[in-house]
Amino acid sequence: MNTNLLNHDAAQLTAFFAGIGEKPFRAKQLLRWMHQYGEADFSKMSDLAKSLREKLATCASIEVPAVTSDATAADGTRKWLIDVGNGNAVESVFIPEPNRGTLCVSSQAGCALDCKFCSTGKQGFNRNLSTAEIIGQLWIANKALGATPKGERIVSNVVMMGMGEPLANFDNVVAALRLMLDDHAYGLSRRRVTVSTSGIVPAMDRLRDACPVALAVSLHAPNDALRDVLVPINRKYPLAELLAACTRYLDKAPRDFITFEYVMLDGVNDSAEHARQLLALVRDLPCKFNLIPFNPFPKSGFKRSPGETIRRFAETLISAGLVVTTRRTRGDDIDAACGQLAGRVDDKTRRTRPAVEIQTC
Ligand code: SAH
Ligand code: SF4
Repeated sequence: MNTNLLNHDAAQLTAFFAGIGEKPFRAKQLLRWMHQYGEADFSKMSDLAKSLREKLATCASIEVPAVTSDATAADGTRKWLIDVGNGNAVESVFIPEPNRGTLCVSSQAGCALDCKFCSTGKQGFNRNLSTAEIIGQLWIANKALGATPKGERIVSNVVMMGMGEPLANFDNVVAALRLMLDDHAYGLSRRRVTVSTSGIVPAMDRLRDACPVALAVSLHAPNDALRDVLVPINRKYPLAELLAACTRYLDKAPRDFITFEYVMLDGVNDSAEHARQLLALVRDLPCKFNLIPFNPFPKSGFKRSPGETIRRFAETLISAGLVVTTRRTRGDDIDAACGQLAGRVDDKTRRTRPAVEIQTC
């Protein structure tokens, strides 16, 4: 069977070439062609010997996932719907800003973790994305945005904040992260690549050892009683363990900080007392807070906190010396804002439903 080379990071590609009797430097050449030139046709790879190009065509392929829609909002936010087979689709979103361009990438079709305010969670788990489907989102964005190897870097930052829990698809996500950082592929600095997790503690430790990129943790509650309800993985890895894992993560990268994401749910987690509990919780940890106004979806059962409540909550954290940002809504007119991304997953595992809205970043 043909091997899809888009599934391989540098080490895996080197092993592939060794397996077909070729030298290791071929892996670097292939990485550059695939990821810097966006080339998927072996016959166009002009610095490979003709015999090698022919050999590759018989045993390998470069299969980029198919894009089923491409929409640009008035503010420049751009969204691609990516077909992942069997009627399922995930989304990636490019958010241009004056001094950077951020791509929000999905890691799974659906999610098993069932956070109560998340429409992906409500939908259940379908399957893990392959490395090709994860890195393919960056490949597609670069191609669509006209990136060239020598030109300006258009996607300067990647956040794994799309659909799914990245650390529940560990191996495929880590191979994709390595490609993002590899100088022969996308060459992004590790501080510009962020994994967002709901807090799978053992996988946080593994990520620290395998590929310590920037880490965002979806906190959403300042005590175990509330977090057990909102983020059910907390019953397995409660706050004390989660915070200890954050500290261990920073041991490896001492100049870094953890970004805590906190969705603002009206009357649920947004009181002055919640803010005080949060301050006590993170007292000893280098961290920043990202407050996310809840983005509603049908039958969620939650409301977004009023702007004034969010402002006061932020103020309490800021006056204690924390750095706090409140996420702005982007791409409203193409439903690309946080919580409004609408991929499709036909859930064949836990709950059978027709296509529904899913939560991504
Ligand atoms: N599974 C990972 C990453 C994907 S979700 C995680 O949970 O961290 C990216 C962020 O969006 C997470 O912080 C998630 O909690 C948040 N989120 C989920 N549903 C949301 C909603 N309806 N409104 C606002 N943010 C939401
Ligand atoms: Fe999964 Fe993240 Fe949604 Fe929780 S918030 S259900 S971990 S995608």
